[in-house]
Amino acid sequence: MLIGLGVLPWVMLVLLAQAQEPPASDANLADLDNQVELLIADERPAAAVKLVLEALEDDALAQPAAVRLIALALPAARVARDEQMSSDLLVAAETIGNTLTEENDIWQLNSALTAHHLLQGRFPDAEMAGLQALPHLDSQPPERQATLLNHLGVARAQQGQLDQALEDMDRSLSILDQAGLEPQASFLMNMAGLSLHLEDFESATELSKRTLEMLEGDSDLAARTMSNLGVALIRLERPTEAEGVLEEAIAMGERIGEPSTSALGNLAYIQRERSDYELALANFRRQLSLDRASGRPDGQPVALKNIGETLMRMGDHQQAAEIFEESLAGFREVDVRIRRLELYPVMIENLEILGDYRRALELMREYKALNDEVVNVESMERIAELQSRIALERSQRELAELEQRRARDEQELATLAAERARDKLLLGALILGVMALGVIALLLVRTVRMRGKANRLLSARNDRIERQQHELEALNHQLELSSRHDELTGVGNRRALRAFVDAFDDQEAWPIPYLLLLLDLDHFKEINDRHGHEGGDDALVAFAHALSKCAGNDDLVIRWGGEEFLWLAANRDISDAVKLCVELRETLAGRRIEISGHPVDIGFSAGCIALPLDDSSPAEQLRDATRLADAAMYEAKSSGRGRLVVIRPESHWHKLPAGALDLERLAQQQVLGIQRLDLGTY
Ligand code: GH3
Ligand code: MG
Ligand code: MG
Repeated sequence: MLIGLGVLPWVMLVLLAQAQEPPASDANLADLDNQVELLIADERPAAAVKLVLEALEDDALAQPAAVRLIALALPAARVARDEQMSSDLLVAAETIGNTLTEENDIWQLNSALTAHHLLQGRFPDAEMAGLQALPHLDSQPPERQATLLNHLGVARAQQGQLDQALEDMDRSLSILDQAGLEPQASFLMNMAGLSLHLEDFESATELSKRTLEMLEGDSDLAARTMSNLGVALIRLERPTEAEGVLEEAIAMGERIGEPSTSALGNLAYIQRERSDYELALANFRRQLSLDRASGRPDGQPVALKNIGETLMRMGDHQQAAEIFEESLAGFREVDVRIRRLELYPVMIENLEILGDYRRALELMREYKALNDEVVNVESMERIAELQSRIALERSQRELAELEQRRARDEQELATLAAERARDKLLLGALILGVMALGVIALLLVRTVRMRGKANRLLSARNDRIERQQHELEALNHQLELSSRHDELTGVGNRRALRAFVDAFDDQEAWPIPYLLLLLDLDHFKEINDRHGHEGGDDALVAFAHALSKCAGNDDLVIRWGGEEFLWLAANRDISDAVKLCVELRETLAGRRIEISGHPVDIGFSAGCIALPLDDSSPAEQLRDATRLADAAMYEAKSSGRGRLVVIRPESHWHKLPAGALDLERLAQQQVLGIQRLDLGTY
């Protein structure tokens, strides 16, 4: 899911909890705070930090005061760009951090450190500080809680922990929502950045536009938001709009004296896609030198990767290989895992062109291990779960509003009915009364007209309530259906698989045997590149249709994610595996799939295993089986694609180890057997 992002989206943050007010009684210390603040306001940040460092040397300084001074000095040290002072402050923070006991001090020190590390691009350190503050969240006002969670989310997103990041950011927004507060622009921007990582480009566009609406005039925040928006538009295949937004971001960066290096890189990406290699290369190089000048380590490896890729397209594979190695070394230092994952495939392809298979294989292993760590099944499931929970909450809110409207209508209806009853009474009184005939006639006409009107109103209201009732039922039904089906292809989604396993959860074993196949489209990215994202979508739908056609009535077909599908074939065993895959291949070939009038060949690689595996619970077996099928599918990919790799338990079968699976090794230990089949030869 994460592989293939050639562009550089940049998540960032601004803002931070202010240092807290000193207690009024402590006049001297309040004085010191004032002096530090005055120096900062006077644009003398280095002097402010120096004053703080001197004060910290005094053993008599109370802990709360020390914490407050450090929190004031950290941003000043950043502005002063003085490495030595920064590291002296961090040493002081660490020393005092180990001895703190007051909840508020622990909170203040660690939330300041979280922001500081984040702005320096040290994501693991930022996460660590954030986690120290987290247990004390409840003691703080909602804005501070939300800020910390948002920062923690950014730190985790940059390290590839997307499920956790989504949870943190969602929680941060809910806290503000519950307190009736608007989120700050930077929160929305970070959420937009995360949506880019999650490849949800529609949300990223919407959130970026909302962020820009909140901002006025030129700012670094606005420039970065526009850069993010540019990436989303590129991925939605709207390059002209993207180019306009990116150029505006670059111009704004220049106006405020903080060049928007990510926008520059993204613009160069568009230029490269347009085969304007010389211009793209020049801009990527400019991006690199600006990143170097700013001293931030985390942008440089990305810029290097882009330079390498451009050189590759220009045919200079040797130089590209050298640049890629430099990029990889940079990534190892800053540990931005998602970005690092994007480097491997291009780097490996380049090495294959150069014929350096040994280095390519080495990197392939590293790639697989990191990919398993970042894109593991559990985290994908949690992301899917969280995304559908957020969507579900939104639908529930809409439902509640509809209910409220209906209740209001019902009340109006009751009032109307009461009015009619009153009219009836009046009519009776009139008839009985000894009034002049003319008056009675007149009143009669009036009342009859009113009753007719009330009746018409009544029946219109009744119709409306009935219609709303139907709408409610339809909405509920749709919710139920859509929560178990993949929107694009109409086959099941991961929730459907969960429901399927839950259905026989209280049983000890599988009711019937199944064959589990994990299928991944070969070179799908090329279809996307050649026919656009929509063309890719058409291919996914065509593949899902062919697969559904081959599946039996009791089979389960699931879109496992991106261009991967899971097929649970009922009452089949290992001897049917080749037959099923060949049938699928022939169905695909027989359909002569076309996208915008061009014929397209859709190939796939598959990993396969039969269930039951052993006597553990069905849910556990399914988890093991998908891990094995995934590893087998990967093996089918690396041994040339268009293949099927079948796994079966052997005499020493035992529980699988955690982490990446080494099939070769498990086969040597006779835990399992591997059979590699070339589908083309059947
Ligand atoms: P391989 O043979 O190694 O599987 O190569 P590949 O190109 O098929 O696989 P890779 O993982 O490199 O690329 C998969 C691409 O699928 C990247 C992603 O942008 C694209 N993709 C994921 N979900 C969708 C989707 O819903 N629609 C479209 N059109 N593309 C998608
Ligand atoms: Mg694929
Ligand atoms: Mg894939």
